[in-house]
Amino acid sequence: MARRKKIYEGKAKILYEGPEPGTLVQYFKDDGGAISTPKPGQAIEGKGVLNNRLSEFFMSGLNAIGVPTHFIRRLNMREQLVRMAEIIPIQVVVRNFAAGPISERLGIAEGTPLPRPIVEFYYKDEKLGDPMVAEEHIIAFGWAGQQDLDDMVALALRVNDFLSGVMMGVGIRLADFRIEIGRIWEGDFMRLIIADEISPDSCRLWDMRAAERAEGQPAIDPGPLADVYTELARRLGVLPTNVTHTPKPTLIN
Ligand code: ADP
Ligand code: MG
Repeated sequence: MARRKKIYEGKAKILYEGPEPGTLVQYFKDDGGAISTPKPGQAIEGKGVLNNRLSEFFMSGLNAIGVPTHFIRRLNMREQLVRMAEIIPIQVVVRNFAAGPISERLGIAEGTPLPRPIVEFYYKDEKLGDPMVAEEHIIAFGWAGQQDLDDMVALALRVNDFLSGVMMGVGIRLADFRIEIGRIWEGDFMRLIIADEISPDSCRLWDMRAAERAEGQPAIDPGPLADVYTELARRLGVLPTNVTHTPKPTLIN
Protein backbone atom coordinates (compact mmCIF):
# COMPACT_ATOMS: atom_id res chain seq x y z
CA MET A 1 0.00 0.00 0.00
CA ALA A 2 1.30 3.45 -0.85
CA ARG A 3 2.36 5.51 2.13
CA ARG A 4 0.21 8.53 2.56
CA LYS A 5 1.72 11.91 2.47
CA LYS A 6 2.45 13.62 5.76
CA ILE A 7 1.65 17.31 5.45
CA TYR A 8 2.50 18.62 8.89
CA GLU A 9 3.53 17.31 12.27
CA GLY A 10 2.80 19.55 15.25
CA LYS A 11 2.94 19.00 18.98
CA ALA A 12 -0.36 17.21 19.35
CA LYS A 13 -1.36 16.10 15.89
CA ILE A 14 -0.15 14.94 12.50
CA LEU A 15 -1.91 15.99 9.32
CA TYR A 16 -1.96 13.60 6.35
CA GLU A 17 -3.28 14.14 2.87
CA GLY A 18 -6.93 13.09 2.81
CA PRO A 19 -8.58 10.61 0.43
CA GLU A 20 -10.27 13.35 -1.60
CA PRO A 21 -9.13 16.82 -2.62
CA GLY A 22 -9.88 19.37 0.05
CA THR A 23 -9.69 16.85 2.87
CA LEU A 24 -7.10 15.97 5.49
CA VAL A 25 -6.65 13.15 7.96
CA GLN A 26 -5.93 14.45 11.44
CA TYR A 27 -4.01 11.97 13.63
CA PHE A 28 -4.11 12.64 17.39
CA LYS A 29 -0.86 11.97 19.24
CA ASP A 30 -0.40 11.51 22.97
CA ASP A 31 2.02 14.44 23.26
CA GLY A 32 1.61 18.15 23.57
CA GLY A 33 -0.94 18.86 26.26
CA ALA A 34 -1.82 22.41 27.20
CA ILE A 35 -4.04 24.60 29.40
CA SER A 36 -5.72 21.87 31.47
CA THR A 37 -2.89 19.38 31.74
CA PRO A 38 -0.75 19.45 34.83
CA LYS A 39 2.56 19.17 32.97
CA PRO A 40 2.39 20.80 29.55
CA GLY A 41 4.44 19.09 26.90
CA GLN A 42 4.40 15.68 28.54
CA ALA A 43 2.90 12.75 26.69
CA ILE A 44 -0.12 11.23 28.40
CA GLU A 45 -0.88 7.66 27.41
CA GLY A 46 -4.21 7.41 25.61
CA LYS A 47 -4.73 11.19 25.38
CA GLY A 48 -4.82 11.18 21.57
CA VAL A 49 -7.54 8.53 21.48
CA LEU A 50 -9.69 10.51 23.90
CA ASN A 51 -9.10 13.87 22.21
CA ASN A 52 -10.07 12.32 18.88
CA ARG A 53 -13.40 11.27 20.44
CA LEU A 54 -13.89 14.51 22.33
CA SER A 55 -13.16 16.74 19.35
CA GLU A 56 -15.54 14.60 17.30
CA PHE A 57 -18.22 15.03 19.98
CA PHE A 58 -17.91 18.82 20.17
CA MET A 59 -17.42 19.47 16.47
CA SER A 60 -20.30 17.26 15.36
CA GLY A 61 -22.50 18.94 17.99
CA LEU A 62 -21.53 22.33 16.59
CA ASN A 63 -22.21 21.15 13.04
CA ALA A 64 -25.65 19.98 14.19
CA ILE A 65 -26.60 23.41 15.56
CA GLY A 66 -25.37 25.21 12.45
CA VAL A 67 -21.91 26.29 13.56
CA PRO A 68 -19.68 25.11 10.70
CA THR A 69 -16.59 23.07 11.58
CA HIS A 70 -13.96 21.13 9.65
CA PHE A 71 -15.10 17.78 11.09
CA ILE A 72 -16.39 15.24 8.55
CA ARG A 73 -16.14 11.87 10.30
CA ARG A 74 -14.00 9.82 12.63
CA LEU A 75 -11.96 7.17 10.83
CA ASN A 76 -10.50 5.13 13.68
CA MET A 77 -9.23 5.39 17.24
CA ARG A 78 -6.74 8.15 16.51
CA GLU A 79 -7.81 9.65 13.20
CA GLN A 80 -10.58 11.81 11.83
CA LEU A 81 -11.34 13.11 8.38
CA VAL A 82 -11.62 16.90 8.19
CA ARG A 83 -12.03 19.57 5.55
CA MET A 84 -8.78 21.25 4.65
CA ALA A 85 -8.90 24.92 5.56
CA GLU A 86 -6.59 27.87 5.21
CA ILE A 87 -5.91 28.52 8.87
CA ILE A 88 -6.07 32.14 10.00
CA PRO A 89 -2.91 32.53 12.11
CA ILE A 90 -4.82 33.79 15.11
CA GLN A 91 -5.91 31.80 18.13
CA VAL A 92 -9.22 33.10 19.41
CA VAL A 93 -9.57 32.78 23.17
CA VAL A 94 -12.85 33.22 25.03
CA ARG A 95 -12.78 33.74 28.78
CA ASN A 96 -15.75 33.34 31.11
CA PHE A 97 -13.87 33.20 34.43
CA ALA A 98 -10.52 34.76 35.27
CA ALA A 99 -7.58 32.36 35.22
CA GLY A 100 -4.03 32.17 33.92
CA PRO A 101 -2.68 35.16 32.02
CA ILE A 102 -5.66 37.49 32.58
CA SER A 103 -5.43 36.95 36.35
CA GLU A 104 -1.69 37.61 36.33
CA ARG A 105 -1.70 40.61 34.04
CA LEU A 106 -4.70 42.39 35.48
CA GLY A 107 -4.53 41.13 39.06
CA ILE A 108 -7.94 39.46 39.05
CA ALA A 109 -8.29 36.52 41.44
CA GLU A 110 -8.53 33.11 39.71
CA GLY A 111 -12.13 31.99 39.47
CA THR A 112 -13.66 35.47 39.39
CA PRO A 113 -16.62 35.48 36.98
CA LEU A 114 -16.01 38.01 34.21
CA PRO A 115 -18.76 40.57 33.55
CA ARG A 116 -19.19 39.16 30.04
CA PRO A 117 -17.29 36.69 27.87
CA ILE A 118 -14.02 38.31 26.87
CA VAL A 119 -12.62 37.49 23.43
CA GLU A 120 -8.86 37.78 22.94
CA PHE A 121 -6.57 37.17 19.97
CA TYR A 122 -3.14 35.56 20.00
CA TYR A 123 -0.85 35.49 16.98
CA LYS A 124 0.04 31.88 16.17
CA ASP A 125 3.83 31.94 16.24
CA GLU A 126 5.49 29.55 18.57
CA LYS A 127 8.91 31.19 18.34
CA LEU A 128 7.37 34.42 19.61
CA GLY A 129 5.40 32.54 22.26
CA ASP A 130 2.00 33.17 20.63
CA PRO A 131 1.81 36.83 21.68
CA MET A 132 -1.50 38.53 22.37
CA VAL A 133 -2.45 40.98 19.63
CA ALA A 134 -5.19 43.55 19.11
CA GLU A 135 -7.61 43.80 16.18
CA GLU A 136 -5.44 46.68 14.94
CA HIS A 137 -2.44 44.36 14.50
CA ILE A 138 -4.51 41.69 12.80
CA ILE A 139 -5.88 44.12 10.25
CA ALA A 140 -2.67 46.13 9.76
CA PHE A 141 -0.61 43.00 9.12
CA GLY A 142 -3.28 41.44 6.91
CA TRP A 143 -3.81 38.28 8.98
CA ALA A 144 -7.56 38.79 8.65
CA GLY A 145 -9.93 41.53 7.54
CA GLN A 146 -12.51 43.43 9.57
CA GLN A 147 -15.35 41.26 8.27
CA ASP A 148 -13.40 38.09 9.13
CA LEU A 149 -12.77 39.42 12.62
CA ASP A 150 -16.44 40.18 13.20
CA ASP A 151 -17.32 36.69 11.97
CA MET A 152 -14.58 35.12 14.11
CA VAL A 153 -15.91 36.80 17.25
CA ALA A 154 -19.48 35.76 16.44
CA LEU A 155 -18.36 32.15 15.82
CA ALA A 156 -16.27 32.08 19.00
CA LEU A 157 -19.21 33.31 21.08
CA ARG A 158 -21.52 30.66 19.61
CA VAL A 159 -18.93 28.00 20.38
CA ASN A 160 -18.70 29.44 23.89
CA ASP A 161 -22.44 29.18 24.51
CA PHE A 162 -22.58 25.65 23.13
CA LEU A 163 -19.52 24.39 25.01
CA SER A 164 -20.45 26.12 28.28
CA GLY A 165 -23.89 24.50 28.16
CA VAL A 166 -22.59 21.04 27.32
CA MET A 167 -20.00 21.25 30.09
CA MET A 168 -22.52 22.56 32.61
CA GLY A 169 -24.71 19.56 31.85
CA VAL A 170 -21.95 17.30 33.17
CA GLY A 171 -20.96 19.42 36.16
CA ILE A 172 -18.00 21.19 34.57
CA ARG A 173 -17.29 24.89 34.37
CA LEU A 174 -15.71 26.17 31.16
CA ALA A 175 -13.37 28.89 32.44
CA ASP A 176 -11.83 29.60 29.04
CA PHE A 177 -10.92 27.95 25.75
CA ARG A 178 -9.18 28.69 22.47
CA ILE A 179 -10.05 27.81 18.92
CA GLU A 180 -8.52 28.05 15.49
CA ILE A 181 -10.58 29.22 12.55
CA GLY A 182 -9.94 28.59 8.86
CA ARG A 183 -11.25 29.65 5.49
CA ILE A 184 -12.81 27.31 2.96
CA TRP A 185 -14.07 28.16 -0.48
CA GLU A 186 -17.35 26.99 -1.94
CA GLY A 187 -17.24 28.16 -5.53
CA ASP A 188 -16.60 31.88 -5.30
CA PHE A 189 -17.75 32.10 -1.72
CA MET A 190 -15.45 32.02 1.26
CA ARG A 191 -16.69 30.71 4.59
CA LEU A 192 -15.07 30.57 7.99
CA ILE A 193 -15.17 27.27 9.84
CA ILE A 194 -13.94 26.04 13.21
CA ALA A 195 -10.81 23.94 12.63
CA ASP A 196 -8.07 22.23 14.65
CA GLU A 197 -9.51 20.58 17.78
CA ILE A 198 -11.75 21.16 20.75
CA SER A 199 -10.49 19.10 23.68
CA PRO A 200 -9.08 19.47 27.19
CA ASP A 201 -5.85 20.61 25.50
CA SER A 202 -7.65 23.77 24.46
CA CYS A 203 -10.18 24.23 27.28
CA ARG A 204 -9.67 25.17 30.94
CA LEU A 205 -12.16 23.03 32.81
CA TRP A 206 -13.14 23.11 36.48
CA ASP A 207 -15.05 20.45 38.33
CA MET A 208 -18.25 21.79 39.86
CA ARG A 209 -19.16 18.49 41.48
CA ALA A 210 -16.38 19.06 44.02
CA ALA A 211 -18.21 22.23 45.02
CA GLU A 212 -21.61 20.48 45.12
CA ARG A 213 -20.32 17.78 47.41
CA ALA A 214 -19.35 20.34 50.00
CA GLU A 215 -22.91 20.85 51.28
CA GLY A 216 -23.03 21.78 54.95
CA GLN A 217 -19.31 22.55 54.85
CA PRO A 218 -17.47 25.71 53.91
CA ALA A 219 -17.85 26.31 50.18
CA ILE A 220 -15.13 24.82 47.99
CA ASP A 221 -14.26 26.58 44.78
CA PRO A 222 -14.56 24.46 41.66
CA GLY A 223 -11.12 22.99 41.07
CA PRO A 224 -9.25 21.35 38.24
CA LEU A 225 -10.60 18.02 37.02
CA ALA A 226 -8.47 15.06 37.94
CA ASP A 227 -7.53 13.00 34.88
CA VAL A 228 -9.39 15.50 32.75
CA TYR A 229 -9.35 13.55 29.45
CA THR A 230 -10.82 10.34 30.88
CA GLU A 231 -13.22 12.11 33.21
CA LEU A 232 -14.62 14.41 30.53
CA ALA A 233 -15.00 11.52 28.06
CA ARG A 234 -16.69 9.43 30.76
CA ARG A 235 -19.15 12.15 31.75
CA LEU A 236 -20.01 12.86 28.11
CA GLY A 237 -20.45 9.14 27.41
CA VAL A 238 -17.76 8.89 24.74
CA LEU A 239 -15.15 6.90 26.65
CA PRO A 240 -14.01 4.07 24.35
CA THR A 241 -14.32 0.79 26.23
CA ASN A 242 -10.95 -0.61 25.22
CA VAL A 243 -8.82 2.30 26.37
CA THR A 244 -7.34 1.94 29.77
CA HIS A 245 -4.79 3.86 31.72
CA THR A 246 -3.97 0.79 33.80
CA PRO A 247 -0.24 0.33 33.34
CA LYS A 248 -0.21 -3.34 34.39
CA PRO A 249 -2.58 -6.23 33.72
CA THR A 250 -5.39 -6.22 36.26
CA LEU A 251 -6.87 -9.31 37.88
CA ILE A 252 -10.55 -9.59 37.15
CA ASN A 253 -12.47 -11.39 39.88
P1 ADP B 1 0.78 22.90 16.63
O1 ADP B 1 1.90 22.23 17.34
O2 ADP B 1 1.20 23.81 15.51
O3 ADP B 1 -0.30 23.47 17.53
P2 ADP B 1 -0.90 20.61 16.20
O4 ADP B 1 -0.15 19.45 16.72
O5 ADP B 1 -2.05 21.14 16.99
O6 ADP B 1 0.05 21.78 15.78
O7 ADP B 1 -1.36 20.21 14.72
C1 ADP B 1 -2.42 20.74 14.07
C2 ADP B 1 -2.02 21.73 12.99
O8 ADP B 1 -2.93 21.59 11.93
C3 ADP B 1 -2.10 23.17 13.46
O9 ADP B 1 -1.04 23.92 12.93
C4 ADP B 1 -3.44 23.64 12.89
O10 ADP B 1 -3.43 25.03 12.60
C5 ADP B 1 -3.56 22.83 11.63
N1 ADP B 1 -4.95 22.51 11.26
C6 ADP B 1 -5.95 22.13 12.06
N2 ADP B 1 -7.09 21.90 11.38
C7 ADP B 1 -6.82 22.17 10.08
C8 ADP B 1 -7.59 22.14 8.87
N3 ADP B 1 -8.88 21.79 8.86
N4 ADP B 1 -6.97 22.49 7.72
C9 ADP B 1 -5.67 22.84 7.70
N5 ADP B 1 -4.88 22.89 8.81
C10 ADP B 1 -5.44 22.55 9.98
MG1 MG C 1 -2.16 22.90 18.23
